[in-house]
Amino acid sequence: MVSILVTAGPTREYLDDVRFLANGSSGRMGCALAAAAARAGHRVFLVLGPVEVAPPAGVELVPVVSALDMQAAAERLFPQCQVAVAAAAVADYRPAHRQIGKPPRGRERVVLELVPNPDIVAGLGTRKGDRVVVGFALEAAAAGFEAAVARARKKLEQKQLDLVVVNLTDAVGSGASQVAMLYADGGRTDLPRQDKPATAEQIMRAAVELWQARQHKR
Ligand code: C5P
Repeated sequence: MVSILVTAGPTREYLDDVRFLANGSSGRMGCALAAAAARAGHRVFLVLGPVEVAPPAGVELVPVVSALDMQAAAERLFPQCQVAVAAAAVADYRPAHRQIGKPPRGRERVVLELVPNPDIVAGLGTRKGDRVVVGFALEAAAAGFEAAVARARKKLEQKQLDLVVVNLTDAVGSGASQVAMLYADGGRTDLPRQDKPATAEQIMRAAVELWQARQHKR
């Protein structure tokens, strides 16, 4: 049994008590990954942003709201895990200031000051030791799959990932997806177009196999 950290869902960055910035993310892939890991008998910590889908049974659920909450939860849990899979659609920016209450709607133009959020998975990558860190790269469909693969490989290097899963923006909101898994050693596995639970199961298996292979080399 392996302990696996999964981040999933969007994050919300509140402007005031009711308004927020967020990515459109259903959390379905992240929940499917957590479910697949739990079904395989692993201990799963699911750090989950606000989603409509019901989280899977058999996982230790850690609900979070903002990117900073998600980062704190992930960093707290990571030391007791052997594998981390970052499937969250973290908001790139948060408002520099949060207002209290619900300021009334006005008619004048408003300029928002935003500050960048931390890259959560890159932070885990820098302190991973012999742990396995898996990220996702959702890339624009327009330039084609091979351009997406090239961009994803750069992310794998920059974020010190062991495995990156590439998919295209046209998979967003769809039940099915076609992804490729790129490994830090240059390897690549293309998965067939299939529903997200099947894809999730193969990604989880690959992540755990990386950890197991590392143990055998010791
Ligand atoms: O750089 P990009 O956002 O495309 O990278 C996507 C990968 O990085 C995903 O695995 C995502 O969960 C992770 N990520 C993160 N923290 C951020 C942005 C992305 O963990 N602030």
